[in-house]
Amino acid sequence: MSTIFKQIIDKKIPAKLVYEDDLCLAFNDIAPQAPIHILIIPKQELKTLNDFKKTDAELLGHLLLTAAEIAKKMGFDKDGYRTVINTNQNGGQTVYHLHVHLLAGRQLSWPPG
Ligand code: 5GP
Repeated sequence: MSTIFKQIIDKKIPAKLVYEDDLCLAFNDIAPQAPIHILIIPKQELKTLNDFKKTDAELLGHLLLTAAEIAKKMGFDKDGYRTVINTNQNGGQTVYHLHVHLLAGRQLSWPPG
């Protein structure tokens, strides 16, 4: 069954796009947890980090490098930001299409809840 993110990739439901290329898409989270909360997702349907294989290493790296590029372009790279990948139930994952959360714009606390 296709996830809500697949429907965003297919432009069947709208999202506020921040970046797109052949491999990935970045858009604003619908329920932001920080002044800037962007989700970066691969266009390829991979459910969780557990589903990535060694041959997907370049794609995984691309998602993180895209986060850094967005941070630089939007000008919060120096102030700082957090990238998070939640995996399965204990990780707090709710949408089963891998995504990198990019959070910025306020002091983020640690450890996470
Ligand atoms: P997870 O909990 O799986 O790590 O993160 C899923 C994220 O997707 C949540 O932060 C949630 O707010 C966001 N989200 C869920 N549905 C939608 C949607 O339809 N549009 C957008 N832009 N974000 C969504």
